[in-house]
Amino acid sequence: MGMKALVIGSIGDAGLIGLAQKVERPEIHYLLIGPGDATQLGRYGVSKVYQLTTLIDEASLAETLADLVSKEAYSIIITPVSKYFKTAIPMAAQKLSSSLFVDVVDIKQSGDTLEVVYNGIGNRAQLSVRVSGKVFLMAPPARFKPSESPVSTTIETLQPKVVSAVKVVSTEEKPKGKVRIEDAELIVSVGRGFKKQEDLKLAFELAEVLGAEIGCSRPIAADLKWLSEDHWIGLSGHKVRPKLYIAIGISGQPQHLAGMMESRTVVVINNDPNAPFFKNCDYGVVEDLYKFVPALTKKLREILKK
Ligand SMILES: Cc1cc2nc3c(=O)[nH]c(=O)nc-3n(C[C@H](O)[C@H](O)[C@H](O)COP(=O)(O)OP(=O)(O)OC[C@H]3O[C@@H](n4cnc5c(N)ncnc54)[C@H](O)[C@@H]3O)c2cc1C
Repeated sequence: MGMKALVIGSIGDAGLIGLAQKVERPEIHYLLIGPGDATQLGRYGVSKVYQLTTLIDEASLAETLADLVSKEAYSIIITPVSKYFKTAIPMAAQKLSSSLFVDVVDIKQSGDTLEVVYNGIGNRAQLSVRVSGKVFLMAPPARFKPSESPVSTTIETLQPKVVSAVKVVSTEEKPKGKVRIEDAELIVSVGRGFKKQEDLKLAFELAEVLGAEIGCSRPIAADLKWLSEDHWIGLSGHKVRPKLYIAIGISGQPQHLAGMMESRTVVVINNDPNAPFFKNCDYGVVEDLYKFVPALTKKLREILKK
């Protein structure tokens, strides 16, 4: 029996359709929040797109969603793991008395039940549970790659149900880099090993030579505010899975590792041979970053002729 799934997010979150496609003969709908060409979702088997063009607060999204999920009788509802959804989705799941799993890795259908595999216990274990009934799944979109199975798509504007006193009067686009860190293939990531904000230029230079994006540990974004939260990687930041992750002056605490453990190749540069990150890397360089990073950039510049 096919299951009915709703994927929610911006146009850039379409990777999540790949998770919905893991059930047998799924009927997939998409709730597109914000702008974007809804018709292109038909390429991945999305037969209906609801478009929500006004930005609403989390409580209102939860109400709007609860109504839509009841009306369409979705069994699976999938969203990215962003701050907006982390607040709204538990409210919606509670309204519908549904299960909710965060950081989902895989799903398998067996009749009417669904086996959900997710990273649990603070990312220390991969757990597998069987659920029946409606289930909300949250996962990083870059983890999945939807396959093409074109269908024609109907598009409908969704009227939000605004329930709270919060009213969004106007919105302004945050200044962002050209690529979302979740989608980056190469990342140079910085931590508290850098003594001053100006010193980050060593990492920027290396990133420029490699064509990499800049990531950071929590203190750099949250405490020191040397970089915006768009760069923050970890349990409470962004989840990334680049081909190459170069961590400079980052100790490698579990909360940081939780955001980058799916990177293909990990290089760690740290002057403390006992830094925990060395237990979780492919290549470890025990050296002062102030000596090593400029030398590495210079060498790469020569090799890559940049
Ligand atoms: C609930 C919770 C959620 C959290 N979420 C996150 C999260 O999402 N992301 C995150 O990153 N953290 C998170 N943290 C914080 C986390 O526990 C660590 O405190 C943080 O990751 C440490 O950042 P850091 O490695 O940059 O700094 P530090 O731990 O201070 O490490 C700095 C490292 O730089 C090295 N170093 C110093 N000088 C040099 C030099 N000259 N050359 C080379 N290396 C040098 C040191 O040896 C050290 O290993 C969270 C914590 C909690 C409690």
